[in-house]
Amino acid sequence: ATATIRPPATTLDDVFISVKTTKSYHSSRLPIILKTWFQLAKRQTWFFTDTDDEEFQLKTNGHMINTNCSSSHNRKALCCKMSVEFDTFLNTDKKWFCHFDDDNYVNVPRLVRFLADYNPREDWYLGKPSIQAPLEIVSKDKKSMVRFWFATGGAGFCLSRALALKMMPLASDGKFISIGERIRLPDDVTMGYIIEHLIKKPLTVIDEFHSHLEPMKFIRKDLIEQQISFSYAKLKEEWNVVRIDGIDEKFDQNRFLSLHCFLFPRFNFCPNRRKK
Ligand code: UDP
Ligand code: MN
Repeated sequence: ATATIRPPATTLDDVFISVKTTKSYHSSRLPIILKTWFQLAKRQTWFFTDTDDEEFQLKTNGHMINTNCSSSHNRKALCCKMSVEFDTFLNTDKKWFCHFDDDNYVNVPRLVRFLADYNPREDWYLGKPSIQAPLEIVSKDKKSMVRFWFATGGAGFCLSRALALKMMPLASDGKFISIGERIRLPDDVTMGYIIEHLIKKPLTVIDEFHSHLEPMKFIRKDLIEQQISFSYAKLKEEWNVVRIDGIDEKFDQNRFLSLHCFLFPRFNFCPNRRKK
C-alpha cells in the first residue's frame, strides 16, 4: 500500500510557550503553574522575569530568563519583556510562539491539538480580543484614524513562525520597544498594531482563550476540555474563577488544582485519581 505524504504533524516540541512574570509574583503565582500544567510542558515552557531567582531557577530546571527589564508595571517595562520573549523565540527553531501571563492555566495537549489545525508556514495571529470593537488611534500625521484588533495578553495568544519572520525587520532586537513607545500603548496592543496595522495580517479570533477580563464562571463544565487557557482574579472580595468541583476552596482558591485534576486525574495530588 502507498502511504499518503503529509507535512509532519504538530507536536509539543514545535511550540515555544512563554510566560511573563515578575519578581514579586514568583512566590505567589509560579508554584501552582509548576505543580500543574508546567509538568506537561517542562522543556517547552520559559518564564520571562526581571530578576535572578535561584530558587525558581532550580524549580523550573533552569527555565527562568532574566530579561533585565525594569520590574515596574509600566508600558516600557512590559514591552521590554515582550520584546525579549519574541527575540528568544526567534532564536529557537520552534514553529509557534505562544505567550501567556503568570495567572493563566494552559491546557497543554489542547493547545497542541489546536495549533495542529494551522500551518506554521502561513501567517497566523491567533488569540482573543477583550474589547467589542477595534481599537482606534490617531495616525502619526494626525490626519486619520488607525483601527486594529489585538489579542489580550492575559488570555494568551500564538504567532506562527512565518508571521514572526515577517515581523522581524520591524520588531526584533528591541525594535518592539520603540514601537510601543511611539504609540504609547501596552505590549499586547503593540503586538496587535504591528501585526494588524503594519503587516496587515488580521487577528484570528479564538474563543477558547480566556483572560480574567471575562467571567470564568460561564465556562461550561462539559466544554472545559476544549478550552485552551483559563485565568483567575480577585476583585475586592470576589474571586473570578472557573466553577469546578474537586479540591476544597481553602486549598485551591484560584481553582487551578481542581481544573488540573478534572483534566488530568492521574496526578498524585488529585482526589479519586485513576491510573491511566
Ligand atoms: N507583570 C509584570 N510586571 C509588573 C506587573 C505585572 O511583568 O510589574 C506581569 C504579570 O506577571 C502578569 C502580567 O504582567 O504576567 C499581568 O499582570 P497582572 O495579572 O498583575 O495584571 P492584569 O493586567 O492582569 O490586571
Ligand atoms: Mn492578570
